[in-house]
Amino acid sequence: MAMPAQAAALAETGAPGNMGDVRRSNLALVMGRIARQPAGVHLTRAHVAATTGLTKASVSSLVVALLDAGLVRETGLNPQGERGRPGVGLELNPARAVMGMEINVDYIAAGVTDLSGTLLLREVRERDNRDSEPGPVVAALAALAASLCVEATGRGIQIVGGGLAVPGLVDPARSMVLAAPNLGWEGVPLDLAALLPGSPLGVALFNEANAAALAEIARRPAGDADFLFVSGEVGVGGGLVIGAELFTGPAGHAGEVGHVVVDPGGTRCSCGGTGCLETVAGQDAIFAAAGMAGLPVTRSAALAALLSALDSGDPGARAAVDRAGRALGVALASTARVVNVGSVVLGGHFAVLDQWLRAPLLASLEKYAPGKFTPGQLTVTAVGDPGALLGAAGSVVRSLVEAPHLLQA
Ligand SMILES: [Zn+2]
Repeated sequence: MAMPAQAAALAETGAPGNMGDVRRSNLALVMGRIARQPAGVHLTRAHVAATTGLTKASVSSLVVALLDAGLVRETGLNPQGERGRPGVGLELNPARAVMGMEINVDYIAAGVTDLSGTLLLREVRERDNRDSEPGPVVAALAALAASLCVEATGRGIQIVGGGLAVPGLVDPARSMVLAAPNLGWEGVPLDLAALLPGSPLGVALFNEANAAALAEIARRPAGDADFLFVSGEVGVGGGLVIGAELFTGPAGHAGEVGHVVVDPGGTRCSCGGTGCLETVAGQDAIFAAAGMAGLPVTRSAALAALLSALDSGDPGARAAVDRAGRALGVALASTARVVNVGSVVLGGHFAVLDQWLRAPLLASLEKYAPGKFTPGQLTVTAVGDPGALLGAAGSVVRSLVEAPHLLQA
């Protein structure tokens, strides 16, 4: 949130007892200033002081704390120092990183990002997690994360914390999955610490579509700060972004477009409802309607087979995707009426199937919400498959930038 530098910098002569809070706020202010610099631009302490309203002495002291915490590093002489004299540049420490992780219905994934959000390492394992016991799934993900930690350590990089995205409703404060029906998890507490043993910040828990929506925010065109991200997996998730901030509602469950009813007389949904979008446009629903149900194939192989069938003009495959596109249009038209969001970003299999899905989807939108959408307002993910883990990792980094004292010794 932009604010005048003088207002942003808290006075350092507050009442006794508030000094810790003031210093933590100013530490976050300096950290945020350094973190917002474009890649390759290195602020000096003098620049930080000038743009935050803090004194140079304060900035020097705060920078020492950030250096000690390993969050920033000095980059040698910067020719743009004060009064023409060279100063020492500051940048985010590339030797600190965060682990993003995802458990989905038919795969697990982990990835390492640096503090500027660049994905350094990523591994995906296809795995059938339907109606699974949480323990073995978490153990498999922990093993995957551990292998990435070893690789990161070999590069001199320390993982300071992580974020886990799961396809369901979560209670982050209790590390609990409230309901992830496609995993068969209800009221399941997760041993998040087991995913990154010993990491200073631990592991935070996120809804998968919300995490993926967060990853999209930074990659939207300028001025496009309001959109609905729709995640197509076995389940269908949604992340509602308003004013470049994720809107989750009071209990964190807003944006569940996958459970908007599109066929009141339809089939039972994993959520217990009937005729939700997911029952028509979810990945397994499309495979089943296309006559591909029960094939012993992985998700990537099944999607490839579906694309091949579509390419060859298979009528069953085309009808299944056409129906999914029209149902998606019904759900999006209704949702857009309620929340006044005109821009839609498609992820997961909706992005993969965009070529085939787009025409029925646009026709449906025009039928049920005439004039609300132009084709240009319907885009596919700019992040792609790593979206959920990137968003989870990015959210952890953002928390760290806002509270760098968490890593202070
Ligand atoms: Zn449902």
